[in-house]
Amino acid sequence: MYVAADDTDSSTWMCTTFLATELVAAMGDLDLIGPPRLVRLNPAVPWKTRGNGAICLRVGRGAGLRRSIGRIGGREVFCYPRSTGEPDAGEVMERCSRVMDKWSQLDDSDPGLVISERRPDPGLYRRAVSRIITKEEALEAVRKVGGTTYQLNSGRGIIGAASAMSWVPMDRTYEVLTYRRRDRWGTPRDVSVEDVSLIDERFPSTFNNFDHHSGRPAIIPHTTCPILYGVRGDSAMELIEAYRSIASEEVERWMLFMTNQGTDEHIIRQWTALEANSSYEIVGTVAGMPHTVPGGHVIFRLASQGEEVDCAAYEPSKEYRQVARALRPGDRVRVLGELRETPRTLNIEKMEVLELAPSRLKVANPSCPQCGRRMKSVGAGQGYRCRECGTKKRDPVTEGEERSLKPGWYEPPVCSRRHLSMPLSRMGR
Ligand code: ATP
Repeated sequence: MYVAADDTDSSTWMCTTFLATELVAAMGDLDLIGPPRLVRLNPAVPWKTRGNGAICLRVGRGAGLRRSIGRIGGREVFCYPRSTGEPDAGEVMERCSRVMDKWSQLDDSDPGLVISERRPDPGLYRRAVSRIITKEEALEAVRKVGGTTYQLNSGRGIIGAASAMSWVPMDRTYEVLTYRRRDRWGTPRDVSVEDVSLIDERFPSTFNNFDHHSGRPAIIPHTTCPILYGVRGDSAMELIEAYRSIASEEVERWMLFMTNQGTDEHIIRQWTALEANSSYEIVGTVAGMPHTVPGGHVIFRLASQGEEVDCAAYEPSKEYRQVARALRPGDRVRVLGELRETPRTLNIEKMEVLELAPSRLKVANPSCPQCGRRMKSVGAGQGYRCRECGTKKRDPVTEGEERSLKPGWYEPPVCSRRHLSMPLSRMGR
């Protein structure tokens, strides 16, 4: 029996993954089949609270070799590779809806719960991770497999819950999430920064742990949610060791999740027209000089398949902006990022410089071909004029630029990466 939930927390309180631990605790005599799943959906959904994550568990009568995947309030959590029987759907719904009623932040959320013996069609996940879908679409997919739903307020969370349930992993990673004691929620977190800085080296299958450039850990949230920290990686076993290597305040509970984080599954690679609120891979030609706008964001225009779009390296991506600034008209690049509605810009998540064009930069205003005096600019892009004799000239004096940029992949620092973005380390680069 699959159980999935979403949209239970507010921007300042709770977390859907904490609800997952409460659901596991409420299962009593039922066993977990496989680890719980944390499924990130379209990061461009305008009404998401934070990382657009939904959760899904499978419960049943466990068979085969069990694995320890967590601890909740002093009790070890195990999961089994398969199930020998399905529990009663009504009973599972009863237990789960009670948990949902208890923890949902109803002033600022639209909780949805889905229970089903069969998973909805995986096409639902593929659409929900990359596009905007409707609640009707999600309900229809649940209805087709005979599932049931429970909702509070508008129940928009049913979209995320049903989509998470329909995820059939092609690529997957893991995250061990640790949680704080209830009386510590909202207070500063006490986690050894030094231990976090060593994870990359000690546990090479993990990723996005520490920003060695700024000296900041990326695994500790800055919100008032119950999470203490979360370590991500490709090996479930190594993640559990990595979590044990970090000295911190008391970990009240922890749990291993299978996730679609770091898989790039939100990226639409085949497109004919670019629609806002989705993320794309665009191979194109830089169509103008990069410029910095108020706020410190660097923008450049990219032409591809008859469309032109402004690409933005936002201020929080810090030194990554240097890469965008070093581009020149004519350069060929591959850009992956989210297309925002207003302003209509592609927020760069990762970029590959494919080919550098020869570049010439202005070094001076031209001299007048008639009287030899230095000419003055008429205005941006309007050429030059001699103040003495009125002669006009279009171009300034330029010289060939030695390019600092090299072809290859570039990604933003760890702290400003998207949950779903595949780090270059996972791409074997
Ligand atoms: P948290 O990360 O703290 O769990 P969140 O960022 O996941 O919060 P939610 O409060 O769950 O944010 O809000 C996301 C809402 O968007 C949910 O109601 C979910 O059902 C819905 N949603 C998710 N994906 C899509 C999609 N592709 N199209 C439309 N709605 C979506």
